[in-house]
Amino acid sequence: MSKQAIHQRSGKLVSPEEFVALEGPQYREKGVHPICPVCKCPLDLYGVHSMHVTSRFDHPDGSTCERSSHPDPRYAYLGNAELDLDSGVRLRADMCEIETLKSVYAACRALTRKLTGPEFVEMCRQGDKRNIWAYKGLTTAWLPYVLVTLIDLPACDARNQPLRFVLNKPARTDVSAIWLRPQDCSLEKHFADTGNPVRNGSIPIPNDPAERAKTDTAWISKSLFEIIWQCCADHA
Ligand SMILES: [Zn+2]
Repeated sequence: MSKQAIHQRSGKLVSPEEFVALEGPQYREKGVHPICPVCKCPLDLYGVHSMHVTSRFDHPDGSTCERSSHPDPRYAYLGNAELDLDSGVRLRADMCEIETLKSVYAACRALTRKLTGPEFVEMCRQGDKRNIWAYKGLTTAWLPYVLVTLIDLPACDARNQPLRFVLNKPARTDVSAIWLRPQDCSLEKHFADTGNPVRNGSIPIPNDPAERAKTDTAWISKSLFEIIWQCCADHA
């Protein structure tokens, strides 16, 4: 269902029409395919020459990519947010500025009330897997509100039950509603095992404690920083 795919030879994002203009309708015989910018699988073109359907890129049957027609319900909210690959590379690098990394971690920790270094690293790796950095318009300021939705936080000493932060957004929007319509969005805290909402578990976007936490990072110890730095060390 995606409107954007990677053109293999140029590495650029293209629309279905642009892809056909570049490769022609016989692209399959040439062994060139549009590639999903998220799951990286080869896609098919649909509807480019039709007056009746909107052109799109289709995933292979059975795909559960969030940009396919049968997304994994866990990540369906990410949807088909418009992408910008170049700004994605910049955002990934910006997050790894030392002070920014501390701020993003501190804000995620404030949103979740408790967040270990390894849990934060796992959020970033899930972000890498889903290429969230490339969402057009996403900045380091909004990043914590996306990152906390990406993994389930397991029960631990500090947390009696496993938690999941679910994005509540307007119908027919995708994750970009966080920065395009923050006043219409919230994060809802749920128990990850039962799916039940946590009482009084609604968090507005932006959230005051999380915003304040961004400027209060002096408490982050050297050993904790070394752990959260792992999500950048892979990219250095
Ligand atoms: Zn995909």
